Amino acid sequence: MPENKRWEACETCKHLKDWSRGEQKGGRPEWDTSLPAEANQLVLVRDLKPDSARLHQLLRCARCGTYYLYWTEYEFLVGGSEDTQTLERLSDEAAEKLLAG
Ligand SMILES: [Zn+2]
Repeated sequence: MPENKRWEACETCKHLKDWSRGEQKGGRPEWDTSLPAEANQLVLVRDLKPDSARLHQLLRCARCGTYYLYWTEYEFLVGGSEDTQTLERLSDEAAEKLLAG
């Protein structure tokens, strides 16, 4: 699928994995992880759940046009809450389906 690999040559996207996750657990700062800094360079295309407190967004790289799905989760646990942010690279087809639906 060479047409779906344009991100490999992109200065932003080549630093992003197909799937990245950041996690922050309450009370365990030494275990915290976060998304790569390049994730902040992606541009919001559509807020898929604007009414939700948890984010669910379609993002796009301004440089090469690759789409990403970004969502956040929050879980309350005894002994500390858990926040996660997930970023997943989408094919153009998958992104177009999301935009159409
Ligand atoms: Zn890119």
